[in-house]
Amino acid sequence: MTINRRLLEKYAELIVRTGVNVQPGQTVQLTAAVEQHEFAALVMEACYRAGARKVNVDWTSDVQNRLNFLYADSEVLSSVLPWEEAKMQQMVEDLPCRIFIISDDPDAMADLDPHKLSDVTQSRARVMKPYRNAIEGKHQWVIAACPSMKWAEKCFPDTADAVERLWDAVMKTVRIREDNDPVAEWKAHAAFLEEKAAWLNRQGFASLRYRSANGTDFTVELIPGAKWESAGAKNTENGVYYIPNLPTEEIFTSPYAGKCEGTLVAVKPLSWNSQIIESFSITFEKGRAVSCRAEKGQELLERILRMDEGASMLGEVALVPKESPVNQCGFLFYETLFDENACCHCAVGMGFKEVLPDGDRLTVEQAQHRGVNDSVIHVDFMIGEEDLSIDGILPDGSAVPIFRNGTWA
Ligand code: ZN
Repeated sequence: MTINRRLLEKYAELIVRTGVNVQPGQTVQLTAAVEQHEFAALVMEACYRAGARKVNVDWTSDVQNRLNFLYADSEVLSSVLPWEEAKMQQMVEDLPCRIFIISDDPDAMADLDPHKLSDVTQSRARVMKPYRNAIEGKHQWVIAACPSMKWAEKCFPDTADAVERLWDAVMKTVRIREDNDPVAEWKAHAAFLEEKAAWLNRQGFASLRYRSANGTDFTVELIPGAKWESAGAKNTENGVYYIPNLPTEEIFTSPYAGKCEGTLVAVKPLSWNSQIIESFSITFEKGRAVSCRAEKGQELLERILRMDEGASMLGEVALVPKESPVNQCGFLFYETLFDENACCHCAVGMGFKEVLPDGDRLTVEQAQHRGVNDSVIHVDFMIGEEDLSIDGILPDGSAVPIFRNGTWA
């Protein structure tokens, strides 16, 4: 498929209508890399066509980030300036729709000091967290991707048409073709995912049991009454339905933090802050990661799991069948937005309070008290092996097959 302007317009329209679902009169905060200004302009236009009141753009740059990390001191980079906080505070008050167009070079930070990177990320996240908590659930947002040269070259090294190939894959995963109506197709896709989530919610499983020949042998308790979520969410301020991730294939919930046992074996590498952790497993006891083993990136994985109190506990379990179009693409995107939609995964770190029936009325601390994990990080890792089986365990101890051989039973 050759990527032409018409397809890009279709994609921009999908991001704005199906993704963030801009309503007449809403303000939009768009974040995009400087080199994606042409696509960002198409998204802006789509916002205005949908009736946006104003579109503000935050331009980002891998190059700028890298140079700052290379030359500026940790303390300088860690300090959040008053205007940055004021901007977040303004967002807490205005609750704009937020659109993030990502296109990062997965290797932009690869040659930098990983300790400096994680220290700075951690201190900034700590200052920003109260603002993030204050807008969580209250505004519509979407993350979608726009391939950059560097990113494409990482996925398809030494290939002349790397960018075209990555665009092709992105379009496939967001269900855009020359001849289709992606907005209608997404309606059906979201309905399918929501039906699966509704089935899981009706079962009322007390726990999940994971098994695979690769060594995964794991049980995790679920929070009684917590919901399984999928594709879409509703803005709690105005009830507008939006789909925060394009693509999305997952049905997920936050498990009971601190209540899991056993080992999870990753089936795909994990890319974190431009660094790769490969062939790894994490073992949990009494709900906490007590050991991990990685053929590559051992030290980084240990650091992630020690990042704060909640970093060693699970914040998410997600079900994705192996037939997912992301998995069908057959390569690693080096980008969680795609890679986490390839197969079943779990995440250490922050959970989602929205999964609790009255979650949007709870503070993060209250949700934490009810079993939803909290942390400055949320790191997904893929465990969806070809032979993965998952059973739902009912409160009476009986098992119901959910997944067999990596897909819905
Ligand atoms: Zn997920």
